[in-house]
Amino acid sequence: MNDLKPIAFEGLDTTRPLLIAGPCSAETEEQLLTTAHALAREGVQLFRAGIWKPRTKPGGFEGVGREGLAWMRRVKSETGMFTATEVATRAHVEAALDAGIDLLWIGARTAANPFAMQEVADALQAAGADVPVLVKNPVSPDLELWIGALERIYNAGIRRLGAIHRGFTSVDKSIYRNHPVWAIPIELRRRLPQLPLFSDPSHIGGRRELIAPLSQQAMDLGFDGLIIEAHCSPDAAWSDKAQQIAPETLAYIVRHLIIRDRNAATEDLNSLRSEIDKLDDELLDLLTRRMAVSQQIGRYKKEHDMPVLQARRYEEMLARRARQAVERGMDREFMRTVMQAIHEESIRQQMKVLE
Ligand code: PEP
Ligand code: MN
Repeated sequence: MNDLKPIAFEGLDTTRPLLIAGPCSAETEEQLLTTAHALAREGVQLFRAGIWKPRTKPGGFEGVGREGLAWMRRVKSETGMFTATEVATRAHVEAALDAGIDLLWIGARTAANPFAMQEVADALQAAGADVPVLVKNPVSPDLELWIGALERIYNAGIRRLGAIHRGFTSVDKSIYRNHPVWAIPIELRRRLPQLPLFSDPSHIGGRRELIAPLSQQAMDLGFDGLIIEAHCSPDAAWSDKAQQIAPETLAYIVRHLIIRDRNAATEDLNSLRSEIDKLDDELLDLLTRRMAVSQQIGRYKKEHDMPVLQARRYEEMLARRARQAVERGMDREFMRTVMQAIHEESIRQQMKVLE
């Protein structure tokens, strides 16, 4: 993907991170236009609204469908904003392109399904589409699946391509609706540095009060843009009301974001970076020593016919280290992930002894 083009529109301010804002769903013509005018007054240039809504269970509000596309046209002509919506099927792609929607995104549930992704990609290719397309991360924390979804769109000829990080379904309870697992978008950036990366703090957080800190975190990590749900009357929203914010709140949050200069000189950091390198060397030495002990344990277990995996001890060890990490100001999930990875490698080392 070396020939990607920036996600740019005529007249779009590119000095700040790109902001896409609008309601989770288009509900009524009045709700859509009231929200759009309020956002346009706050300087928003790219307007989002879900026309077709993928719902976890049947019976929920599944979007207004095609009718809403005419409302999006009104938004565009009355406010001058560019418009964006989610597509999941061939019919959605055709209808959205016909209606002159300026940017398409693909939702997390669709991104998890290669058949659906291919259908969308084929529809884009058949239409010779040249719209920007953003692909949300799939619901499961699977980077390869996300990259595969992006590749399908790329192979359909789309060059204004981008990714949206919206967090992942997690079995662990957490403050987030969808756990960010920051390591995944960070690894995506390492693998595809030229791919624009957006953050969706609305769907990660699931709660209004998390929009500001999550947006700042995304900016601190060098994300290229934000997609945020905003509604003229958030408490009355037909979908995702706990996470939607009023246009004025959105403007306040965005105004107060600290945008780091990504091109700033880094000489001053050199001494701190070499300190980090030294610490990483020590970590590696420690891990090497730990693995050597694991191998000794493996030999002992072999001689005494003991199983390699001792589930109770493992669970106790995970819980204790997670607790200690929290006491030292680190994240519980972070420490569990680290210890799980170390344990996995220890088991592999012990199994090696058995071969
Ligand atoms: C949305 O953006 O409204 C949406 C349905 O998001 P996701 O696909 O991330 O759940
Ligand atoms: Mn939503």
